[in-house]
Amino acid sequence: MWKPGTQCVAKGDHTKVKTGEIAYHKGDILTVLEARQGKGVYLVRHNRTGEEGLITASNVREREAIRVDRSLSLMPWFHGKISGPEAVNKLKPVEDGLFLVRESIRHPGDYVLCVSFGQDVIHYRVIYKDKKLTIDNKQFFYNLIDMIEFYSKDKGAIATTLRRPKEKEGTKSAHVELSKTGWLLDISKLTIGGSIGEGEFGMVCEGEYMGQKVAIKNIKCDVTAQAFLDETSVMTKLQHKNLVRLLGVILHNGLYIITELMEKGSLANFLRTRGRSVITASQLLCFALDVCEGMEYLESKKLVHRDLAARNVLLSDDDVAKISDFGLAKTVTKSLDNAMLPVKWTAPEALKKEKFSTRSDVWSYGILLWEIFSYGRQPYPKMSVQEVKEKVEQGYRMEAPEKCPPGVYALMSECWDADPKKRPAFHKLRGKLEDVITSEVLSD
Ligand code: AMP
Repeated sequence: MWKPGTQCVAKGDHTKVKTGEIAYHKGDILTVLEARQGKGVYLVRHNRTGEEGLITASNVREREAIRVDRSLSLMPWFHGKISGPEAVNKLKPVEDGLFLVRESIRHPGDYVLCVSFGQDVIHYRVIYKDKKLTIDNKQFFYNLIDMIEFYSKDKGAIATTLRRPKEKEGTKSAHVELSKTGWLLDISKLTIGGSIGEGEFGMVCEGEYMGQKVAIKNIKCDVTAQAFLDETSVMTKLQHKNLVRLLGVILHNGLYIITELMEKGSLANFLRTRGRSVITASQLLCFALDVCEGMEYLESKKLVHRDLAARNVLLSDDDVAKISDFGLAKTVTKSLDNAMLPVKWTAPEALKKEKFSTRSDVWSYGILLWEIFSYGRQPYPKMSVQEVKEKVEQGYRMEAPEKCPPGVYALMSECWDADPKKRPAFHKLRGKLEDVITSEVLSD
């Protein structure tokens, strides 16, 4: 029995519909709204078209979350530093096209593609040239994933196409896991359009996937792609109207991450470009409430975002604010590179002792409130990062932005309590914010 909100993947096409039923194609994602009387009948909403109708459970399967699993690998065929003879041993019994990649022991940093062919194992040295990889100086690749993808389809200058990866013990193929769980999308159904933003790891483009407008992030570097796979695993578990929704991934040219398109871009940019004359105070309060609800959901899942800021909140076409960039979201507190921390948004205890918690997210939320009500200004204007660190530690706090409702400033101040335990939790903050909204509406 599936609960409302469960996402399902269609196993095949269903186009000849009876009254009340919904039409769908293989791979379409449907969200369960409610179970109907009669075995295995559900009322669902089609994620792409928004259409509602009945389905039979046996025609779909549940889309499961991917378990965050260190052994999930984009490169299960990569065995690290092993010698040539060890590689030969691993590729036994012989089988044409069985392959692995190893790092050379004699030339650290150099890769070797080892392929079983006939009775032998052939070792192809991978040369690193002009920031690209090549075996024959004709075909060049950005990373090993691309190289393997190419030689799996086309034998090029090598003896045989790559047919089966010899997986390193203890690793699981991300490809297999993602397709089993329904998160692997089909590249032939993806249209890539123009650039809509620039992130830390490259360009973000808009596009279309099976008629739905999407945002596309392509991570070319294989090591970063692997790290992003963890971010993606977190996202597969989360579904909320105020979190940017992951549609799935494609393993090509590294990793493509496909999310719903947020047409109005980042909240920070929206506030700065529209300004006071266009955006009303009640709209600002709506943004604040949207983010708070998204954070309340993360809080209930015991997830810490660590990088909550107006630049990481995106706006949909109909002005719904959603939280994005779970890049740093972790269930456990893990040591981070301090130089990477967004100091002006980070709580003092997180900066000093790396104590990240939902309550340090609450501090960042206070800064985000300040950003919202100052129409996208940089927090602590004119202060350097070092100054902010020192002054905040001594008790300094920002003043209220111009024309900020006093009730909202009171909330910011609560979020900035030096003692994390005294800061309100997100579910409390939401209640308080709703009270402010009611009183603002009444005083209008
Ligand atoms: P990121 O790499 O996630 O920091 O994204 C960089 C920029 O790309 C953001 O500031 C947005 O302007 C844009 N962007 C990212 N994701 C989306 C999305 N889902 N919809 C629209 N724009 C996006």
